[in-house]
Amino acid sequence: MSDKISNQNIGKSTLSIWGGEQEHELYERSTQVPVVHSVSFAYEDIDTWHQVALNQLPGHIYSRNTNPTVRAFEDKVKELEGAEAATSFASGMAAISNTLGTFLKPGDRIVSIKDSYGGTNVIFNEFLPPLNIDVTLCETGDYEQIEAEVNKGCKVLYLETPTNPTIKITDIKRLAAVAKAVGALVVVDNTFATPINQNPLALGADIVLHSASKYLGGHADALGGVICGSKELVEQVYHYREINGATLAPMDAYSFIRGMKTLKLRVERQNENAMAVAQWLEKHPMVEQVNYPGLKSHQGHEIARQQMSGFGGMLSFSVKGGLDAIKKFLPKMQYAHMAANLGCVETVVGPPVTTSHVECTDAERAAAGIPEGLVRYSTGIEDIEDLIADLEQALSYLE
Ligand SMILES: *Cc1c(COP(=O)(O)O)cnc(C)c1O
Repeated sequence: MSDKISNQNIGKSTLSIWGGEQEHELYERSTQVPVVHSVSFAYEDIDTWHQVALNQLPGHIYSRNTNPTVRAFEDKVKELEGAEAATSFASGMAAISNTLGTFLKPGDRIVSIKDSYGGTNVIFNEFLPPLNIDVTLCETGDYEQIEAEVNKGCKVLYLETPTNPTIKITDIKRLAAVAKAVGALVVVDNTFATPINQNPLALGADIVLHSASKYLGGHADALGGVICGSKELVEQVYHYREINGATLAPMDAYSFIRGMKTLKLRVERQNENAMAVAQWLEKHPMVEQVNYPGLKSHQGHEIARQQMSGFGGMLSFSVKGGLDAIKKFLPKMQYAHMAANLGCVETVVGPPVTTSHVECTDAERAAAGIPEGLVRYSTGIEDIEDLIADLEQALSYLE
């Protein structure tokens, strides 16, 4: 997209196709962003080189810092999140650890919820406390507790909504206002919602982050992460990352650029499929509970309706008979990988014990309120009739 076009009134499908595609970087009149496999960038005179190095002229110096393909990916996400700046990482966990590493110093305090992604919880429980960083994890959805803890003062309020794998919803706008009042930074993991369904910056967050390995890429063939926010905050995280070195590789950035061209098409289809699957599961006799924010029975339904434009492709459900029942019926599914990832075009299923919370002990999972009989279901873009028929035949092994 030409530099002249502002993203004010442009639709998200148009932005995910044209955003970040700077014409001056398209090589030899190629229509697609080139994969620039070059560690360094050469200059013809020292003065220009020096000015680029000082950020006084546009350009690239060394690919651990910036790279044209990686930059195009960052700009695309930036446009979709309506942000001033973005920077990227070798994985979603690198996005999280580098962001927390940038803003938290010994003596600081972070407030978050108990239902964050398993890897994020390891950072909270294992890595931050020895650095003399105080971590307070509140019951997800207990606004009184979260607000009281934030009001005691903290450097960062860290949220994830919807959560993994219990699909709980947290009111971003409400908590961001409380955090602002005590001068805390609000960081939101938007991986599950995608920028198509939810834009946390517009709800008051300071930093929004994604595991690009999931919906942004959409094809489960590249690992990466990205954060967006104000130029000032993103530059601080960029500086931390360029030195610590968790840089996104150009080929993976290209896979994300390619994947993101169909982001809105995919996510809209996943929203529809997930709703149909959730409604069907809710009526099944072997299913105990269905967690999907699109269902009226979901405790976060009203907030989800306000802060999301679609309810997403992720749901979870528990079956009668616990883990034994899961071991019996999940392998019977034909159109679903039993795998640890999510957010791709194929349907993917698995229990938390081998997916989101593989890092946790049985006791930690129980404390987090994750039933042994839970299945996380990442809806693909297959035909809905086939997905439901597949669930029906697999669940019939339980009756
Ligand atoms: C997968 C995931 C992460 C971690 O991302 P990686 O790319 O696997 O490092 C973080 N948060 C959420 C919500 C995720 O689903």
